[in-house]
Amino acid sequence: MNRKELEKIKQKALQEHIPIIMDDTLAVMKKYLAETKPKRMLEIGTAVGYSAICFTEMLSDEGIIDTIEREEERVKQARENIKKVGVEDKIIIYEGDAVDILPTLNEKYDAVFIDAAKGKYPFFLKEALRMIKPNGIIFADNILYKGYVLSDYNKHKQRTAVRNLREYLKEVSENPNLETEILEVGDGLAISRKVKI
Ligand code: SAH
Ligand code: MG
Repeated sequence: MNRKELEKIKQKALQEHIPIIMDDTLAVMKKYLAETKPKRMLEIGTAVGYSAICFTEMLSDEGIIDTIEREEERVKQARENIKKVGVEDKIIIYEGDAVDILPTLNEKYDAVFIDAAKGKYPFFLKEALRMIKPNGIIFADNILYKGYVLSDYNKHKQRTAVRNLREYLKEVSENPNLETEILEVGDGLAISRKVKI
């Protein structure tokens, strides 16, 4: 992969305030993905393709990432970026709302990265659980949302997001088929492994 191009893509995204994955979050995910070596990975929330491009390094040979983005302009940029870095054979972009697209997918995934509308995290979890393989990992970024999620914060225009992130945490914690860790890296990262049964 062309690292110089990747660095340019990252700097441009930061400048344009596109919420790309934070360095420390990426480092933690890479550690887990190094063990998993996914054959197939799902990402919800492509933005301009930065995280998906980074994850291609962690795939097994011939591994593929499916990634979903609803904003047309971002999809366009993501396609350009993926080409610039030279990983177009490893990433498939689905353009549209993940709420519509996820139910049409029927792959089995070794890893899922949830990084889109916070109000939809419980729905994304349901779909991730339908498609995750035994031993697979479901990551959820921004799960602590600036600290709002674990505080008594509830008077805010973002309260629907906060309520749904709390619901996500409750569901992963109570699900007997998952082992979950919640890390304070970046904006909060939940890591749930599907226990082999
Ligand atoms: N994973 C990217 C950053 C994603 S930012 C990276 O780290 O590089 C979140 C993206 O999710 C935004 O581009 C937003 O347009 C998209 N998004 C939010 N809700 C969505 C939905 N319901 N369906 C599809 N895309 C969504
Ligand atoms: Mg994020």
